[in-house]
Amino acid sequence: MHLKQLELVGFKSFPQRTRLRFEPGITAIVGPNGSGKSNLAEALRWALGEQSARTLRGRRAEDVIFAGGGARRPLGMAEVSLLLDNSDGRVPLPYAELVVTRRLYRSGESEYLLNGARVRLRDLHDWLLGVGLGPDSYCVVGQGTVEQLILQRPEERRVLIEDAADVRRHTQRLAETEQKLAATAGNLQRARDLATALAPEVERLRAAAARAEQRA
Ligand code: ATP
Repeated sequence: MHLKQLELVGFKSFPQRTRLRFEPGITAIVGPNGSGKSNLAEALRWALGEQSARTLRGRRAEDVIFAGGGARRPLGMAEVSLLLDNSDGRVPLPYAELVVTRRLYRSGESEYLLNGARVRLRDLHDWLLGVGLGPDSYCVVGQGTVEQLILQRPEERRVLIEDAADVRRHTQRLAETEQKLAATAGNLQRARDLATALAPEVERLRAAAARAEQRA
């Protein structure tokens, strides 16, 4: 899936609205140490739903919001948007282009948008994991990751292979469904307990009703 554009505002070292267009082929981002190259890769992961502050080299979720620097004051919100080409319909949504946006306010409030409409992260995951896009999927290969992959144990490497084979989306769904089933089983047990506790009362009322009917 082709990433056409990355747009950031208030994310890490990018206080000003910044747009990067990616044409087909290879794009290289070049800059001196500390100029924000890794921040761009992190913006990509973050917009795809990365939840771990540590992976983003921060301690708290709000650390991704521009913290001030030079003459600029800290900002109250970080926003990153990815523009993805969906003209081949790989994501089964009726849009030729998808704009995935994540916003985070200093208050802790956060939101995800798809083409401007608020969506749940869960749905976003569902749509994007199907095409191999996720915060920790192989679509973002960070510094040292290739080396890590070679050194990994087979069970660890399996995660990446499952990701590429689109198995992970289904295992996630399975885990969610199992959780829901367990919750439903709990509710059912509570309902049964309640029915057992109320049974003598029902019996008493039934007898009272029968007596009342006889008298009438
Ligand atoms: P290197 O080549 O050393 O890896 P880089 O070009 O990848 O550097 P980054 O590591 O992406 O650069 O950028 C680090 C810069 O981002 C630092 O100057 C850091 O102060 C700045 N930075 C990170 N988070 C924030 C934030 N929340 N607010 C302001 N600046 C930030």
